Amino acid sequence: MTDIIQLLPDHVANQIAAGEVVQRPASVVKELLENAIDANSSEIKLILKEAGKTLVQVIDNGKGMSTTDARLSFERHATSKIRSAEDLFQLNTKGFRGEALASIAAIAHVELKTKQENQELGSQIIIEGSNVKSQDVAVTPKGTSVAVKNLFFNIPARRNFLKSNTVELRHVVDEFHRVALAHPGIAFSMYHNGSELFNLPLSNYRQRVVNIFGSKTNEKLVPVEEETEVLKVSGFVGKPEYSKKTKSEQFFFVNNRFIKSPYLNHAINAAFEGLLRDGYHPTYFLNLTVDPKTIDINIHPTKTEIKFDDEHTLYAILRSAVKHSLGQFNVAPILDFES
Ligand code: ADP
Ligand code: MG
Repeated sequence: MTDIIQLLPDHVANQIAAGEVVQRPASVVKELLENAIDANSSEIKLILKEAGKTLVQVIDNGKGMSTTDARLSFERHATSKIRSAEDLFQLNTKGFRGEALASIAAIAHVELKTKQENQELGSQIIIEGSNVKSQDVAVTPKGTSVAVKNLFFNIPARRNFLKSNTVELRHVVDEFHRVALAHPGIAFSMYHNGSELFNLPLSNYRQRVVNIFGSKTNEKLVPVEEETEVLKVSGFVGKPEYSKKTKSEQFFFVNNRFIKSPYLNHAINAAFEGLLRDGYHPTYFLNLTVDPKTIDINIHPTKTEIKFDDEHTLYAILRSAVKHSLGQFNVAPILDFES
C-alpha cells in the first residue's frame, strides 16, 4: 500500500481560494469596501493606481482591530462575523466566509494598518504572498487602512489575463456604485491615479442615486414603495423615457447587498410591458428587504447570487408594486414614431 494524499499547505489552499474570490482588481475593491462597511464606518475612501492593478487601498474610520485580530484576519476561515452554521441564516454583515483577506494576501502585497478607538497606538502588518514580512506597532488614525499592491504578482497567467486599465477601471466603478448605492448613510470617495472620481456625502437614497448618475436623473425617478409580510420594496424605477440600450442602471439590493437576479429582473420587465421601445431596458434602483431566514447567500463565493425560499411570491409583489407606481405617476408609453 502506498499513501499519496497530503493536506495542502495553507499558502497553497489560500491561493486556490483566491482563484474563486479574486478575479480582478474590482473583486478586491468589493471585499475591502464590504469589510469597511461591516466595521461600522461612516466614511470610506477608495484609492487606486492603474485601475487597481498596482494599488487598491481602502481607508475607513470604523472600529479597527486589536493587534491579535489584525494578524488573525489573514488566516483562512477566520471571521468575527459568524460563530455557528445557524448564523448563516441570520446574517447582518456583508462578510462571513473569513476568506477574503487570506485570499488577497496570497496573491498580492498587502499592508494593513489598524487602530481601535481609545488606543494610543495601532498595528501594522505587511504580508506578501501569504508570508508575514513584518508586524509592528504603528501611529495611525482610528479605523483601518488596507493597501493591496501588485495584484497577482505571483500568478503571471492571471496578471496577463487582466484587461486594459479602461476596462478594469469600469469594473471597479461598477462595484463602487453598487456598494455606494446600498449604503447612502455612509460617505464614500474614490480616487484614481491622484484624481478624485467620486465624492459622495452622506445622503438619502434619492440623493445618492443622483450624486452617482447625475442631476438629470432626479426628475426621471419614480418612487416604488410596497410592504407585505414577506417583502418590503423601496427605491425607484426610471420613467420609460429614461430606459437604456444597456442594462447598466439596473440595481437590486437584497438586505443592502447588490445581487443579480434574471428572474426578478423579468418581473420589472413585465411591469414595463408596453411602455418601452424595442431594444431598451428599464432602469431601476430597488431595495428589497426580506427575513434573512428566507434566503441563502452562501451559494457562490462572491455572494452576488442568492437563493430565495419563495421566488414566485416575490416576483408577483415586485411586478405589481412597480406597475402600480408607474400607473400612479401617469407614466405614458414611449411611442415609437420612427418605426
Ligand atoms: P469576513 O469579512 O468574511 O469575516 P475577511 O477575510 O474579509 O472575512 O476579514 C476577516 C476579519 O478581519 C473580519 O471578520 C473582521 O473581523 C476583520 N476585518 C477585516 N477588515 C476589517 C476592517 N476594515 N475593519 C475592522 N475589521 C476588519
Ligand atoms: Mg470580508
